[in-house]
Amino acid sequence: MIVSEITRKRVEHRPLSHLHVFIQMFLLFVFIGYWFHGSLGLIQTLSQESIKIEQLDPGPLHRGDNTTTLTVNNLTRSVITIILDLRTVPGLYFRNTQEQFIYMLQPGEKRIIRSQYHYDHLTADGFLRVRLYYPSVSGAGVTTLGNPFFEKRVSVGADNPDLDPLPFKIRESSHYRIYYYPDSLAEHDLDKIIASHDRGFEEIATILGVSYDRKIPLIYFPDEETKVKETGHHGAGLSTGSVIVEVYNQQVKLDPFHETAHILAAKLGDPAALFNEGFAVYVSETLGADALDELGSPGKTCDSAVREHRAKGDYIPLLQLLSFDDIGPNESRPTISYPEACSVVRFLIARYGMERFRTGYSKVAAGDTKDFESIYGASINEIEQAWLKSIASTK
Ligand SMILES: [Zn+2]
Repeated sequence: MIVSEITRKRVEHRPLSHLHVFIQMFLLFVFIGYWFHGSLGLIQTLSQESIKIEQLDPGPLHRGDNTTTLTVNNLTRSVITIILDLRTVPGLYFRNTQEQFIYMLQPGEKRIIRSQYHYDHLTADGFLRVRLYYPSVSGAGVTTLGNPFFEKRVSVGADNPDLDPLPFKIRESSHYRIYYYPDSLAEHDLDKIIASHDRGFEEIATILGVSYDRKIPLIYFPDEETKVKETGHHGAGLSTGSVIVEVYNQQVKLDPFHETAHILAAKLGDPAALFNEGFAVYVSETLGADALDELGSPGKTCDSAVREHRAKGDYIPLLQLLSFDDIGPNESRPTISYPEACSVVRFLIARYGMERFRTGYSKVAAGDTKDFESIYGASINEIEQAWLKSIASTK
């Protein structure tokens, strides 16, 4: 049998980084087709109309090089091209890797596909995600993948003796698995940390109307130097989509709600930064935190920060704010855009209700004025004027 691996692409997924706030949307939940929750050494049979997947063996599952074996059978009388996508997720703050392999299957061919993957690090949360796609090629030769027709997440870390040694103690609360250094301030404050986080989690989930049944890993480093050494990431905070990493000491204590808001709201969608960051800051303020403490206006409410900036001529029109796909980088003028987004979200929820906000969160991407206006039944300009009028006299 001719080996027809024709291309091979390696992508390294680094933790994204902006100072304290951001979200990386790993599309862990986006799939159509088939999902089997992971177990080791599984053998499954899956029939599609045109492809039969007879076996998936993830291999020995240790740190270093591994080989996964997949048996596929082309049931048609045509040549079929499939893409195998392997993502290694070591867990915690360690970097994911992703590799894609393209195969052409001859009519009726049954093929055993062996593919390499690699873990530099591995923790108890680690897993391997295996996806298969039918690629489609546009007229310009651009390959797009769309949705996978097969997805399986294989637990690699659970009960595996070959894990990275970690410097942490671990405690589980109702909604978090908390990692902290022995004798650190985080350990000293742990009961307080757990109380505020679990309360925040439950209130945010209630506000959003979402459920999240896994525990959020929450990792505390005693200082930035240690955090940089362990994670390679500078700054006081880091969130990788579903894991929160923070410095915690006398000088640095981050907002207990902001990142959790991102993680839970991601269940609704991946909207424009106006919705995404606006909601995180809004909910943090609503739950009683100093939401703008690290965002340029400590001690101020979002509405008052907007009024003060605007009085000095520092203002981002709503149309432009809606066009941002990220708030945080310098070009988004974060000290202005965070409080504005928060203030707009507060107005939208108060004036139009949570249900419409949920719809907006799931639909309105950056720059999508059409959906925004249709969901709120008013023009951007009308909403902007009503919002500015509403905050003229708030706290
Ligand atoms: Zn944020």
